[in-house]
Amino acid sequence: MKIVIQTNKLKCDMGVCTNMADYSVVPDGVDKSRYINLCKDCMQNLYDATSKILVPKSPKNIYMRNKGRGEQ
Ligand SMILES: [Zn+2]
Repeated sequence: MKIVIQTNKLKCDMGVCTNMADYSVVPDGVDKSRYINLCKDCMQNLYDATSKILVPKSPKNIYMRNKGRGEQ
């Protein structure tokens, strides 16, 4: 999957958003009609929401290390 900058005049796919899409989420092996088109605001909101449930590896590792240290 990759994210590309959307230059065509396409509506943002996020709910009731009326902005034009700035980016497209492109899953592997799908054609253009299946792209998920998002404006910059919705992309940022999606990122913020995603970051709350998907924790990057390094902070989690730090947390695990600290936890381990606390138990000794
Ligand atoms: Zn939007």
